[in-house]
Amino acid sequence: MKKPGRNDECWCGSGKKYKKCHIDFDERMEEIEAQGHQIPDHSLLKTKEQIEKIKESAKINIAVLDYVAEHIRAGISTAEIDRWVHDITVRMGGIPAPLNYEGFPKSVCTSINDEVCHGIPSEDIILKDGDIVNVDVSTNLNGYFSDSSRMFCIGEVSAEKEALVDAAKQALQEGLKEVKPWKFLGDMGNAVNEYVKSCGYSVVREVGGHGIGLEFHEDPWVSYVTEPNTGMLMVPGLMFTIEPMINMGKAPIYTDEKNGWTIYTKDGLPSAQWEIQVLVTEDGYEIITY
Ligand SMILES: [Zn+2]
Repeated sequence: MKKPGRNDECWCGSGKKYKKCHIDFDERMEEIEAQGHQIPDHSLLKTKEQIEKIKESAKINIAVLDYVAEHIRAGISTAEIDRWVHDITVRMGGIPAPLNYEGFPKSVCTSINDEVCHGIPSEDIILKDGDIVNVDVSTNLNGYFSDSSRMFCIGEVSAEKEALVDAAKQALQEGLKEVKPWKFLGDMGNAVNEYVKSCGYSVVREVGGHGIGLEFHEDPWVSYVTEPNTGMLMVPGLMFTIEPMINMGKAPIYTDEKNGWTIYTKDGLPSAQWEIQVLVTEDGYEIITY
């Protein structure tokens, strides 16, 4: 940990002297690190100004998903959803973060039924009655990033699929209960996993959440198959996504070899995912986008 001198300005951007600001905070982090835990670098902790700018980005993300929620229906292609996302984001002054990200060809991920994530919108994929669809939206506004996803049930969906979608949403609440300063990310992940197991479902292991804010994907990587009291220490200013992918059947997945992106369940059973972006605060958490 790089620390300023006692009388130097604090690293947090408050303008206060270090000894009057984060000195005790850093000492507490160092004690925890000495016990063998992983602590966040100061660069991962968002300042007040950064948080305000990230919230401006999140406004676009939320507006886009609200629009999708109102207009998604059987008979439209996933390319249509891609156009909505692109046009609204650009109109509001943002850039869809997935577009050209590591070569991703579209502005949004649309993942249907047994697609776990990273489904690529296409004119050839038409939503039909009974589908469950994850729409994953990410926004870059002036270099500040937001990211969230929701599930949509198209027309009449089977009770089994509906239960899966509901459980995936509830899993976020179970994880959120553990998001508190001076607890560990592993506490959050374990709460998600225990809940999902109690429903008879499984959590995908290979794909997880991530830090976010000044980059689309920052440290830490966020797993939901974790032990309590492990993983990165949560402290105020840390921002990350909670986005467990919940499989109705077994956890194993595979990646589409042809497009290199889309991930499917190995057993062909459906998968569901909701995603929120959260900030750790002095007394718990704040949801930045949903
Ligand atoms: Zn400070």
